[in-house]
Amino acid sequence: MEEDQVKLAALIAELEEPVGLCDLPAIYPPNTKRKKGRVIKNFSEWIEKEPPVNWSLLHDTHEARYGHMTTNLAKVYNFVLRGNRALPLTAIVEAVFHGTLRYFRERDELAKKHIEDNQNTPYCSRVMEYMAKKVEKAKKHTVRLIGNQERRYEVQLPTDGFGSGHEVKTHEVKIGTEFYPPCECTYNKPKLLHLPCSHVLAACGQIELDAISFVSPYYLKEAVLNTWTGEMTGFRVVGNFNKVNDGERVYIPHPDLRRTSKGRRKARRIRNDMDQSEAGGATRQCLLCAAYGHRMKY
Ligand SMILES: [Zn+2]
Ligand SMILES: [Zn+2]
Repeated sequence: MEEDQVKLAALIAELEEPVGLCDLPAIYPPNTKRKKGRVIKNFSEWIEKEPPVNWSLLHDTHEARYGHMTTNLAKVYNFVLRGNRALPLTAIVEAVFHGTLRYFRERDELAKKHIEDNQNTPYCSRVMEYMAKKVEKAKKHTVRLIGNQERRYEVQLPTDGFGSGHEVKTHEVKIGTEFYPPCECTYNKPKLLHLPCSHVLAACGQIELDAISFVSPYYLKEAVLNTWTGEMTGFRVVGNFNKVNDGERVYIPHPDLRRTSKGRRKARRIRNDMDQSEAGGATRQCLLCAAYGHRMKY
């Protein structure tokens, strides 16, 4: 009898176990492993407690774009160093050095070619494509001036249907009156991308303002070329750096990397703040007052 009770409890526990998302054979290649339901549940709990500025661009403050660079750079290092990490330090430096050189040479050449091939655009190739697409989109918007002294506009997006069932989406755009006017859109894209969105471009059309004033100067083709024109100097002339006197050899393990649990490590990648989701412990930030330590929802 008691045995049955135990079995039943086990069965209930099994049934109540969170179920992972099913495989989507049409979308994912075969053998794709999806995270178990429990892991996903833990992740969503973790991200709920994280300060929203740390992961959502919508909550971005002061254009800090928290974690964008750190996270991506850490990923890049993991990618670059994946095959090299077992090598001696000099070899790692040399591999990174030559890789960087090649990277610069290729991009320098591409930037020069872009300038030659596209005489009538001031933008780099990516932004050239972006602007062409957005200008095309802006033609379909309906713009209405709603400011008095201010240059404020309501930009209405086209709907693909008729009747009252189709909601009309409207954005508000504000263009400053300064010599280099700033622009705002309820969509928030200009602030985050440093590029005008199609709504701003549509408003620009009304006042015959050149859209280039809203494009960050970093996206101009000359700026991109300047990024890749730098010269690097080799270090082999100074020395080979491949001899170490045994007496001088000092190993300093990183204190944060010390293992605190049993068994071998499960991953070899360099850890960064993204991995906190696995480590547990989260910082709470209030959605109302943005203070840390407690949390109130809207
Ligand atoms: Zn917009
Ligand atoms: Zn609060």
